[in-house]
Amino acid sequence: MFHVDSLMTKILQRLSELFTAVDEITVDGISDRFLAYFTGFDEIEAVKKIFGEKTTEILRNINVEFSFINGYMHIDSTDGHIVISKNYIKNGNKIDIYLDLIHELFHVKQFMNGQELFDKNYKYVDRPTEIEAYRYTVQEAKRIGLTEKYICQYLKTEWINDTDLKRLLKAVNIHNYDLPSNASV
Ligand SMILES: [Zn+2]
Repeated sequence: MFHVDSLMTKILQRLSELFTAVDEITVDGISDRFLAYFTGFDEIEAVKKIFGEKTTEILRNINVEFSFINGYMHIDSTDGHIVISKNYIKNGNKIDIYLDLIHELFHVKQFMNGQELFDKNYKYVDRPTEIEAYRYTVQEAKRIGLTEKYICQYLKTEWINDTDLKRLLKAVNIHNYDLPSNASV
């Protein structure tokens, strides 16, 4: 279905292990560092391109919080750590989680650069930081061989209506608007 090299195999295996271990992550609040959970991410080209030479060092220091929040994952606006839904890690699609992590790491870099991640002057799909992060993520999705149809489904979340989704798809250079009816799955 998609091109999985040995690194991707390792990453996906690691995400699977995390699925089963996530209930044992009991630390309250900010728990640990990114690389402790997501081993191998500092070897991914798409991640290295975000952070450059200091990728490993930076990933070692990014705080991760596994939370009971609903939804997926996001950046905490106070200090830029990544908040991840335990439920999502447990039940989410591994490929989607992989892409979300790339997306959030891109936001971490934006946060480090002092960019405003939550600019209320824009709707979510029009926010420059989101478009930039989505473009980057879609590029990686294509690299691993995901189809435009898959990517459409991935981008369709419950808070994005079809009109906004079409605008986002256009912004990330996906021109197949043939959305499946169960696009939110
Ligand atoms: Zn985002």
